Amino acid sequence: MRALLFDGILRVEHNAPMPEPLADQALLKIRRAGICNTDLEIVRGYANYTGILGHEFVAEVAAGPEALVGRRVVGEINVSDGTCDMCRRGIPSQCRQRRAVGIHGYPGAFAEYLALPVRNLHLVPDNVSDDQAVFVEPLAAALNILEMLAISPRERVLVLGVGKLGFLAAQVLRLSGADVVGVVRRDTQARLLAQWGISARYIEELPKQQAQVVVDCTGLAEGFADALTLVEPRGTIVLKSTYQGLPQVDLSRVAVNEIRVIGSRCGPFPAALRLLAGGLVDVETLIERRYGLDDALQAIEYAGQKGVLKVLLEI
Ligand SMILES: [Zn+2]
Repeated sequence: MRALLFDGILRVEHNAPMPEPLADQALLKIRRAGICNTDLEIVRGYANYTGILGHEFVAEVAAGPEALVGRRVVGEINVSDGTCDMCRRGIPSQCRQRRAVGIHGYPGAFAEYLALPVRNLHLVPDNVSDDQAVFVEPLAAALNILEMLAISPRERVLVLGVGKLGFLAAQVLRLSGADVVGVVRRDTQARLLAQWGISARYIEELPKQQAQVVVDCTGLAEGFADALTLVEPRGTIVLKSTYQGLPQVDLSRVAVNEIRVIGSRCGPFPAALRLLAGGLVDVETLIERRYGLDDALQAIEYAGQKGVLKVLLEI
């Protein structure tokens, strides 16, 4: 089969071995996939992963349980052992033996086929398109903010780093009724937010220490420093992306101002599917370009340019 492989060198492989599903797995024929910042970091060599890339996808079940064959599905990316203490406590996303599709120890979805445990799969409702379904994984990750932190509709919430993930986070947080503000660097970002009725500010316009919650989606070391400047005493900073490099900040301010810092990663797929099926979140506006799998190298290159939003691979 064809697949986008990274082993220090990025290339489209035409003779990658077909996955062989285990007894508890289904064989998925990938329909469409999305390029995420994590993929770009892997290609830059930050993540120590080699193999087939890709973890945002919608697929058709090619083989597996009869009730699923031929149906469209999305798949949770954490492949857990189901037996460790974290799994037994109902937190498989933190499995001690965790592998993650296309990120850590497990082949990815930028390929014609992928085998995945049946328990990872969720059926896609008929009124959710392939384009929308590709966003279920990052939308679920945005929803995880609401799992980690109770947000009051009285609060001001700042989203730092409005890009692929930040736009989803802002839309999800807005559903809480809170005063959500996207912190922008370009007018194009402000225009997109305005389209969804979300206000935008440049960081220089924002008062210091006035936000109850700051969600950092920048992926940049300086993002945490900015969050620390904007959050009010006793406020909360949510770290929504991993950092390239190590933030250099005065952690004493965290102690003195009694700031809560919360890490956040993968979230609930069923909730993301409900938001899409109910038309409560707009994802299609974020799609910038599409490429075939054979042109995946150009797709990755384009997706890596500054300010580019979602690039899709049509498999
Ligand atoms: Zn486990």
